[in-house]
Amino acid sequence: MNPEPAAQESLYRKEPKIYPRQVRGRFDTLRDLSMYVLLGIYYFLPWISMDGRQAVLFDLPARKFHIFNLTFWPQDFIYLALLLAIAGLTLFFFTALAGRLWCGYACPQTVWTEAFLLMERWVEGDRLKRMRLDNGPWNRERILRKTAKQFLWIAFAAWTGFTFVGFFTPIRELWSGISTFSLGPWETFWLVFYSFATYGNAGFLREQVCKYMCPYARFQSAMFDKDTLIISYDESRGEPRGGRRKGSETPEMGDCINCTLCVQVCPTGIDIREGLQYECIACAACVDICDQVMDKMGYERGLVRYTTEHSLAGGLTRVLRPRILIYGVLLLALLSGVLWSISQRVPLRAELIRDRNALYRELPGGQIENVYKLKLINMDDQAHSYRLTVLGNDQVEANTARPLSLASEEVGVFSLRLSAPATAGQGVLRLDIRFEAEDNPSIQRSASVRMLLPEKP
Ligand code: SF4
Ligand code: SF4
Repeated sequence: MNPEPAAQESLYRKEPKIYPRQVRGRFDTLRDLSMYVLLGIYYFLPWISMDGRQAVLFDLPARKFHIFNLTFWPQDFIYLALLLAIAGLTLFFFTALAGRLWCGYACPQTVWTEAFLLMERWVEGDRLKRMRLDNGPWNRERILRKTAKQFLWIAFAAWTGFTFVGFFTPIRELWSGISTFSLGPWETFWLVFYSFATYGNAGFLREQVCKYMCPYARFQSAMFDKDTLIISYDESRGEPRGGRRKGSETPEMGDCINCTLCVQVCPTGIDIREGLQYECIACAACVDICDQVMDKMGYERGLVRYTTEHSLAGGLTRVLRPRILIYGVLLLALLSGVLWSISQRVPLRAELIRDRNALYRELPGGQIENVYKLKLINMDDQAHSYRLTVLGNDQVEANTARPLSLASEEVGVFSLRLSAPATAGQGVLRLDIRFEAEDNPSIQRSASVRMLLPEKP
């Protein structure tokens, strides 16, 4: 007789679709405000012009990042590295202090999901209507509503992709490229890619991105301590839970009436009453809805609230603690350092490279000449002519075949000849060459150079 086949378990579990219920309240208003402000900045920023060019433009082919009146070059890579360090430290600081504020109010995944949900609600209605529509037959109403929603989603996703590419290609050129069907292959690829990514992430994947794809959700708990602000259900006050009518005397019961509204509004579909979970994005929707339930029941607000583990245990929350101070001081130091360095940034680069074909040349009259390739980068948004001064030896003369004049953001390569009498020194002469804008002496940069002279017998 054959043995019974072992029961097989699928490695893939289909997630049930979540229909978050709409909620109104203090934190919902804050979330809406944050969404409108952030989306407003994102969609309008590339349309702002300044001095005849797009104010914020990451011009990759030209290797220049324009951010209002600042232009960053590949030579400014250090600022990008520092910016990433500041972003990381800011995340550490705010997570240790206030938990997942970023996830709840500012993460692009949250913000775009909110926007897509808003469109979904406009077209299909709130939770119950959407559930009924999805479980009903494919009748005229369902087809019309689903088509209208898809139309809105696709249009919004396409505009998002277009705007994203507009940070890298001047957005007006991009628009005319689209309207005349003359867009390049790369722009077309990235436009379609980002539109599709927005549509997929905000329309379909939604909370799955936070639960399974986002690394921050996994490691943020390492930054939490017992004084970190979290959203929590007050078990000591809420339990034992149970349904009841308003005004009924139930001294043996806690304040939770088990209405499950906090679960229905949750965009990740979890039950906050089961304790702190990594799926919780701290959107505070459950705080708003539970406060409304408490108001209706005539109970004190705050059964679900922003709190800390210390406070829940009856202790005092310490805001200033070592990790907050360390993150804060590091962040402040890094921020002030970067701001100071940007304010002191000289929009000129000078590089000198020896001509390797000849060590030196003897000229008639006993002069010795060394030839260099001089690369000057005018990183300013104005044209400049530069004055050249040799420092360290007043017998050395410098000559260039043409004036050191550069248009704004121009890179110029010049041939520089240094000459000196053979008696000016012997072997290697170490010199500094200073380049200074004639119309603005604060724009000056020095480059060190070695001049070779014959060894004396
Ligand atoms: S909304 Fe408040 S009262 Fe209702 S189930 Fe959730 S915690 Fe309990
Ligand atoms: S548990 Fe509350 S705060 Fe956390 S994601 Fe759900 S609704 Fe938002």
